[in-house]
Amino acid sequence: MSNEDCLFCKIARGEIPSKKIYEDEELFAFYDINPHAPVHFLIIPKRHITSLAETTSEDSALLGKMLSLARKLALDLGCRNGFRVVINTGRDGGQEVPHLHVHVLGGPRPWKQA
Ligand code: ADP
Repeated sequence: MSNEDCLFCKIARGEIPSKKIYEDEELFAFYDINPHAPVHFLIIPKRHITSLAETTSEDSALLGKMLSLARKLALDLGCRNGFRVVINTGRDGGQEVPHLHVHVLGGPRPWKQA
């Protein structure tokens, strides 16, 4: 289920433009609008899930798919010397957009903290 007012749901539906990297029936990946590294993109589920804290054991396959895609896209985008995968979760976790997303950051260091 998609959420009418959610920024990332709107991006996944194509209602707000983004620099899309990848899309399938479950996931959507796009470049972060305010990059903290030479390569910085986000992977989201198309289904609205507020944060990692709201996932259940039924989301295990989806979460695994998100991490596998993080690895594949990071390598495809040239992060041969490594990359960071970050999931900010909830207010104390520094999450600003309340739709589950994986940050993937790579490229030559140093870069800002995501
Ligand atoms: P933080 O801003 O502290 O990193 P989040 O983990 O919630 O918090 O990350 C939200 C990310 O979404 C930010 O990196 C921000 O730059 C990015 N972002 C916000 N709006 C857009 C947009 N329209 N297109 C692409 N990225 C966006």
